[in-house]
Amino acid sequence: MGKIKIGISSCLLGEKVRYDAGHKLDRYITDTLGQYFEWVPICPEVEYGLPVPREPMRLVGDPDSPRLITIRTGIDHTEGMLKWAEEKLKELEKEELCGFIFKSRSPSSGIGGVKVYTLSGMPSQRGIGLFGRAFMNKFPVIPVIDDGRLHDPGLRENFIERVFVYKRWQEFIKKGGLIRDLVAFHTEHKLLILSHSPKHFSVLGQLIAKPKQNKPEDLNAEYVNLLMECLRLVATVKKNTNVLQHIIGYFKNQLSSDDKKELLEVIENYHKGYIPLIVPIVLVKHYVRKFDEPYLGKQYYLNPHPLELMLRNHA
Ligand code: SF4
Repeated sequence: MGKIKIGISSCLLGEKVRYDAGHKLDRYITDTLGQYFEWVPICPEVEYGLPVPREPMRLVGDPDSPRLITIRTGIDHTEGMLKWAEEKLKELEKEELCGFIFKSRSPSSGIGGVKVYTLSGMPSQRGIGLFGRAFMNKFPVIPVIDDGRLHDPGLRENFIERVFVYKRWQEFIKKGGLIRDLVAFHTEHKLLILSHSPKHFSVLGQLIAKPKQNKPEDLNAEYVNLLMECLRLVATVKKNTNVLQHIIGYFKNQLSSDDKKELLEVIENYHKGYIPLIVPIVLVKHYVRKFDEPYLGKQYYLNPHPLELMLRNHA
């Protein structure tokens, strides 16, 4: 797999495009994620035509449909920004993005928790930036996160896992999106799906079991919507523990009672929060290799993203 294309708020890459001519360089993004991701930087305010430096703006009015207004002079940039966003999003359709990292709290780029002011100047944190909202409306299945949430280990892992799944989905579509390939795609992601939502696991399984009732493109659209909805749900310790216990069943005839006891102990220690998920996963992978277990060997649950990112190393 080559580098994965990810949209990003330009200031997070260190570009001096902020209202005060500064930037918000994030070294984890550039130095660590940059090894796997190819960036498509976007600064809505500059690309829309505002200068650097510029007067800062804020959201005002109804949190579901706020206005974007300069703080001191009260210039309303809402219509201009929305029009620009519409054109920009058409351009982005061709980029085949697999995710977007937005700058948090920005009235243009934020994707949640942005301050919105009433006309009398009282703030609430219920807003979404104009471009952030337009992007999510246009591409509801593309994974998004902001730089604030990216520094939460659980949310970071969830986002990056979704990016890699979505990249594989794009490759499946490029290959033709055939039903037989969808069945293979689903099979390889089964345990990953189960770790996020047993309910979605069952619904997606039913969808795959009756593929001929749908046109392939309708089936693929329904499948990816449900899949990405499923993966947005956090894979909790409890859900991962269930998956790991399920995995033991594949080795019931191969493991000695001592080995089985050890594996169960490791899973229990993970369940209690003493050790990170990577520990039982490494042990399971050892047995998958040793016993050449074909179904588990293809499960992305055991290899959802590069080991070097150390995303499962937090307890
Ligand atoms: S937050 Fe968005 S609009 Fe503001 S400087 Fe960064 S990229 Fe530009």
